[in-house]
Amino acid sequence: MNDRGPAKRPRPVEDTASLVAARLRRGVRLPSGRIAGESDRQVHLFPITTDGGIPSQLTALCGLGITPGMADRITAVLGMPCSACLALSVHGATG
Ligand SMILES: [Zn+2]
Repeated sequence: MNDRGPAKRPRPVEDTASLVAARLRRGVRLPSGRIAGESDRQVHLFPITTDGGIPSQLTALCGLGITPGMADRITAVLGMPCSACLALSVHGATG
């Protein structure tokens, strides 16, 4: 079972201004309808554009979509990284 909802194409890193790291909050409802537990609290990377607005939804490099209030921004090195987001961020930076 995939808790990330419908498959989405990963976004290329090249067309974004920066990446923001955020970790899902415990107890939020995932796109699949399941409630997020501790094992779901990975740190995902979200491409952010600099148009100045607050988006109503963000999509991580791995395709996970979140809405405001579902995750906490991470500004220090902590938490388990999402391996897909990490791999896609490195690929975009090098290739
Ligand atoms: Zn991810």
